[in-house]
Amino acid sequence: MKINFIDLQAQYQAYKDEIDKEVLEVFASAQFIGGEKLNSLERNLAAYTGSKHAIGCSSGTDALLLALMALGVGAGDEVITTPFTFISTAEVIALLGAKSVFVDIDEQSYNIDATKIESYITDRTRAIMPVSLYGQCADMDAINEIAAKYELPVIEDACQSFGATYRGKRSCNLSTIGCTSFFPSKPLGAYGDGGAIFTNDDELAEKMRMLLNHGQNERYKHKYIGINGRLDAVQAAILDVKLKHFDKEVELRDHIGTRYSDLLEDADVITPKIAEGNRSVYAQYSIRVQEREEMIAKLGEQGIPTAVHYPVPLHLQEAFEHLGYSEGDFPISELVSKQIMSLPMSAYLSEAEQDFVVRAIKG
Ligand SMILES: *Cc1c(COP(=O)(O)O)cnc(C)c1O
Repeated sequence: MKINFIDLQAQYQAYKDEIDKEVLEVFASAQFIGGEKLNSLERNLAAYTGSKHAIGCSSGTDALLLALMALGVGAGDEVITTPFTFISTAEVIALLGAKSVFVDIDEQSYNIDATKIESYITDRTRAIMPVSLYGQCADMDAINEIAAKYELPVIEDACQSFGATYRGKRSCNLSTIGCTSFFPSKPLGAYGDGGAIFTNDDELAEKMRMLLNHGQNERYKHKYIGINGRLDAVQAAILDVKLKHFDKEVELRDHIGTRYSDLLEDADVITPKIAEGNRSVYAQYSIRVQEREEMIAKLGEQGIPTAVHYPVPLHLQEAFEHLGYSEGDFPISELVSKQIMSLPMSAYLSEAEQDFVVRAIKG
């Protein structure tokens, strides 16, 4: 049996007629940047999340960068975040000359441990940036409460959690600004790079719209130093089609994730713990195993692809050497990064494929 880690081909086949039609319309119109396809997507993204504003942009990384820029984060400032994430989260902080202040994760959710945040707040703290990892929202109520006490904005790195629910509300609409990614392998993926920013704050929305278009408020009038961070019309058209089918995919992902956990209950692995009130979109289905390299090799022999998200926490990355962290600073992040591995996961994973993966793990 040949199993895909994420089956993007099956998904394209399912929506091919609709996607082809939309993309060809963009080609025929020659409206490649902005235009009605982007406007439509933004309206639908806002409605989906319940956010007042949804702004398409070039990637999840740029969404995070634009959020920090809009909040005025710069040299000498500190941003509180997690070391157990993809590099982008802390990369954008460093690009602005600010400093990542890491807080260890919770061992159940793998998200920032909200109970530890307060002791890291200083008079230089400018924002708190939790990550909703693997498709499960961080404990946003607890984080927002601390942020409110210190009058700090919260940016949800929702690059893996678009579609997730937290206590009845959608990810991306749980804090000052929410940022997501439409990288092809994310729960809602484009056919290239893309991202979006969400907020209920009119001023921040207006500023971020300018920042992603070179800080322009009208053509060739530049109010801010910005970036080229636009989402193109072809990606917007594809995403708008896929968004129509997304609720069904979220259901399937939830079913597949829950089924993995049920089937693996008696196996010698740690399955994901989804907190009460949370619904994960399982951007990854990640388990913890004692002998990871052996498990990866054994599954590989049977044609089962796996991945490790993430093998080295950010505080131990060479690029962040200047932050002065060392091994032992964030023990839970370090432990989890040694044990974690992700299994094949997508809305199109069949039960037969899943059974094959589970049997291989148990063997
Ligand atoms: C994918 C991802 C990003 C970056 O998104 P891109 O669209 O690839 O730039 C940022 N943070 C997290 C947690 C991610 O998983």
